[in-house]
Amino acid sequence: METDFGGAFYQRLGVKRVINAASWITVYGGSIMPPSVVQAMEDASHWFVDMHDLNQKAGDVIAKFTGAEAGLVTAGSAAGMLLEAAACMTGTDPAKRHRIPDTTGMKSEIVIHRAHRVNYDHNFRAAGATLVEIGNSGSTQEWELEDAIGENTAAVAYIFGPRQAGALPLPKVVEIAHAHDVPVIVDAAAMLPPLENLSRFITEGADMVSFSGGKGVLGPQSTGILCGRGDLIEAAYMNGAPNSEGIGRAAKVCKEEIAGLITALELFVDTDQQAVAAGWRAKSQHVVSALRDVPGLRVELAEAEPDRDEAFTTSARAIIFFEKSWKGPDRQAVVQKLIDGDPSIRVGAAQNSDGIAIIPVNLGDGEEAIVASRLKEILAGKA
Ligand SMILES: *Cc1c(COP(=O)(O)O)cnc(C)c1O
Repeated sequence: METDFGGAFYQRLGVKRVINAASWITVYGGSIMPPSVVQAMEDASHWFVDMHDLNQKAGDVIAKFTGAEAGLVTAGSAAGMLLEAAACMTGTDPAKRHRIPDTTGMKSEIVIHRAHRVNYDHNFRAAGATLVEIGNSGSTQEWELEDAIGENTAAVAYIFGPRQAGALPLPKVVEIAHAHDVPVIVDAAAMLPPLENLSRFITEGADMVSFSGGKGVLGPQSTGILCGRGDLIEAAYMNGAPNSEGIGRAAKVCKEEIAGLITALELFVDTDQQAVAAGWRAKSQHVVSALRDVPGLRVELAEAEPDRDEAFTTSARAIIFFEKSWKGPDRQAVVQKLIDGDPSIRVGAAQNSDGIAIIPVNLGDGEEAIVASRLKEILAGKA
């Protein structure tokens, strides 16, 4: 990944450059699009098209790659969650579509594991749904799901987020929900890569799955991928742009973004993800090697977790812990000095924020060396 060019616009506005060792985080700009993705967006900017035609054809590409019946380009995984909830409540009924977030006369409860509650579930609620929680922070019983499903249940939600502790496995949730004719809607925003996840949750029986387009897929940061059952995708589409009514109209996707996302998806499917992962490990290893001998620190290479139960563990990363014997600046001071530099360096947290994680997925080539040497200076009290 090359990042060391451009920037004239930011300089004109006086916006500082950030080296992003914190992963695909929206607040630092998400990801850097490959040149062919930007080129596809530029190319798409010259024509008018019928947006229904474009959305249909783009959806067909998503369907092909995910194995789902249908697909839709959304304005991010959070927008996908809004449309999932809306679709399950309104179906294709125009009166219901008009009425939400007032859910009078429709099923409006979404069952969700307590362990799956995340900030982003606001998007289910924004459509008008009420969340019905099951389980506790460490375990969930099958009977709790059975018991929570009732006459007013619109869907069961399943979130692949920061906490998975004690959640029922997705196939079990699907089995129970489907026995009651209730659809299962999934947020798998940060679950790509690995590539297998593109079709995995559909294969496991989910009715709709939402991914971010602007994280590991490297599409426009403002895009997402929604896939699933044909009737539900149609209902989702009717609830949003280009239609002028509907709860999803505020999450519009433009033709250039669709071109960028589809091009990024095609590139993602074609990429040797193992080679990418090896590059991430090498960058992490560079940081580990540079800091390993600093007394009072424990510096480790943490591997990616294939069945991750923690967000952002898609890649190997360097983890820095401060031991009791550490005499230098504390974690907070180190992080602040990294932020205050120019370029500003943003890092991740490790283990309840006691440690620092250098997450390599958004480090341009050579940026791992900048991060390592800056850290070394700050840790030695020389900066
Ligand atoms: C990033 C993330 C989202 C939001 O995705 P966007 O594409 O930025 O809208 C939702 N859920 C989880 C678990 C995420 O990690």
